[in-house]
Amino acid sequence: MLVDPFARAIRYLRVSVTDRCDFRCTYCMSENMTFLPKADLLTLEELDRLASAFIRMGVQKLRITGGEPLVRKGILTFFEAMSRHLATGSLHELTLTTNASQLARFAEPLAALGVRRVNVSLDTLDPDRFAAITRWGRLAQVLDGIAAAKAAGLRVKINTVALKGMNEDALFPLLDWCAAEGHDLTFIEVMPMGEDMSPLRLDQFWPLKDLRARLAARFTLTDLAERSGGPARYVRVEETGQKLGFITPLTHNFCESCNRVRLTCTGQLYLCLGQDDAADLRTPLRMSAEDSGLEAAIRAAIARKPRGHDFDYSRNRVNGRIARHMSHTGG
Ligand code: SF4
Repeated sequence: MLVDPFARAIRYLRVSVTDRCDFRCTYCMSENMTFLPKADLLTLEELDRLASAFIRMGVQKLRITGGEPLVRKGILTFFEAMSRHLATGSLHELTLTTNASQLARFAEPLAALGVRRVNVSLDTLDPDRFAAITRWGRLAQVLDGIAAAKAAGLRVKINTVALKGMNEDALFPLLDWCAAEGHDLTFIEVMPMGEDMSPLRLDQFWPLKDLRARLAARFTLTDLAERSGGPARYVRVEETGQKLGFITPLTHNFCESCNRVRLTCTGQLYLCLGQDDAADLRTPLRMSAEDSGLEAAIRAAIARKPRGHDFDYSRNRVNGRIARHMSHTGG
């Protein structure tokens, strides 16, 4: 089992399978992105080897992320490979975070491979606004994808980034739509960081406490004690029975129960969402076809997992993009 120096067992691995995406959300990517050269990316077989090593060492939950994971060529092969761990019972949950653009064709095969839940990033139900936020995205395609997920029996959680002046008016339509469709909903606060990834402008910063106050003016919100080992806090909307999540990048409330680490598509293992420290697993992976060196490197990395977040923005490159990916861990 993987246990860090603070006695936290590592049970949850997020695996980014690509840095590419078919959208260009303003807070995540610039319009003209240069993506990583193919040789830097782990192959699907390497991703299988790495994820399987973690599962052997006690990881029970796997979340597949990107970029947009479903644009990775041959991605179903990887899900199929991971589904063998579901079959043996060593993996308890296989899930993904997606922009849903490709979900119409992938929902059924994913469900057949044992995926039960998906997180979908969706910031508005207004088609023009959606196009403005995602640049390349089209809302109808995303809604088709979400409908296909529901039809395939997948539970859908919508992740919405709160953007002042961009989707304030989406708040109640999203809430009503999620209630009608039976989807869970989590709001994410994104800090404007002034970093290199086409960051939010300061005037787009919409603190979740303001958003929550708006909701509370119309609904009765009851705080829930529930935690998922992640950064989300939950409330119940009494009038609709919905469970709503809130994630702020400055939330420190989950460090002591943190059970997760994050693997990039180049084989870097990030040990904490709020810190830049990463361990290179690609080198030991490629050095030998045997897994003993890889497992030793994983253990050495986990031994470096810090106690908690360090959100000193002057020192850390915790930009909008990473904050967005934090959402992908939550709830
Ligand atoms: S936020 Fe998600 S959907 Fe948007 S560009 Fe980034 S990875 Fe793609």
